Amino acid sequence: MPRQFFVGGNFKMNPGSREQKQALVKVLNEANIDGSTEVVIAPPSLYLIPLKEIVRKDIQVAAQNCYVKNSGAFTGEISPVQLVDAGIPYVILGHSERRTLFHETSELVAQKTRAAIDASLKIILCVGETLQEREAGETAIVVQKQLQAAVDLLKESDYSQIVVAYEPVWAIGTGKVATSAQAQEAHADIRSYLAKAVSPAVAESTRIIYGGSVTAANCKELSTQPDVDGFLVGGASLKPEFVDIINAKK
Ligand code: PGA
Repeated sequence: MPRQFFVGGNFKMNPGSREQKQALVKVLNEANIDGSTEVVIAPPSLYLIPLKEIVRKDIQVAAQNCYVKNSGAFTGEISPVQLVDAGIPYVILGHSERRTLFHETSELVAQKTRAAIDASLKIILCVGETLQEREAGETAIVVQKQLQAAVDLLKESDYSQIVVAYEPVWAIGTGKVATSAQAQEAHADIRSYLAKAVSPAVAESTRIIYGGSVTAANCKELSTQPDVDGFLVGGASLKPEFVDIINAKK
């Protein structure tokens, strides 16, 4: 079965006001969107429920993070079961900003992934190397190690709930997009790792999406690569061109 193209919008700590949020939703609600693409937008947690209520029903909503526990004394955190209870189907985990600015280790990201799956959330699991690691020729091994921590805690059936996002750190928010060859190579490496570490069937069916300075101008070429199953979009997801990225395969 072909893998369904997937486009996520990671709003990060944007938009800055409720008016901007409404303007963004208006663009999406009025757009002509490719119905064969799965579309998910991830606003700040404050906006999850209001945004879900006003956005068209063929666009799903994702949290940008969650904790490993379901409830308790964890000030500032949101739990997987709370997200499910609020009708939020997806969560982004392991984004490079969480890993670097908030010191999340691959082990913590793996525990969050486990907890999110146990709560029946779907996950956009982010991995990616720094520029230094790429220049040292360590891309594949760094990404494998990040994935391995999660693989150790997952069973084969869990992968139907996971989308892997390959996001090279040097490409995030920099305007320096990976070439389609670089993206294809990293995605193919991830797929062959999944084939070995989990199973060929999981490797074949798991969506591997690319993130890092994706724009309307570069998405079409990236989308032609056989192992690029979609995008995770930051900056451009806040602009009308997000619609063109959703429609990259059209
Ligand atoms: P960017 O961010 O598209 O602004 O580079 C991507 C991401 O962080 O997911």
